[in-house]
Amino acid sequence: MQQEAGVGGEALEVWIDQDLCTGDGICAQYAPEVFELDIDGLAYVKGEQDELLQAKGAVTPVPLPLLGDVVDSARECPGDCIHVRRVADGVEVYGPDAE
Ligand code: SF4
Repeated sequence: MQQEAGVGGEALEVWIDQDLCTGDGICAQYAPEVFELDIDGLAYVKGEQDELLQAKGAVTPVPLPLLGDVVDSARECPGDCIHVRRVADGVEVYGPDAE
């Protein structure tokens, strides 16, 4: 099993608000292991078996080696719709709702 990312060792997970996604594909360029565009032209996260999770707002763990790429995706996302949060308490640590 892949080690998951964390701030201070805490596990993180990521989800996309597809209602705000512009479909530009920046996230899939930064972190293709985590994000992919579906045939509807919107980005979705991928599961731990590399499968595309096609449910809106689906959540997937952030693997530690990919944390930088996922954070860059959240920062550059034109739709401000990539949310990275702590698994333990659901607090967003990167993304539009992070403090
Ligand atoms: S970077 Fe943001 S707006 Fe662009 S495809 Fe990814 S989730 Fe959608």
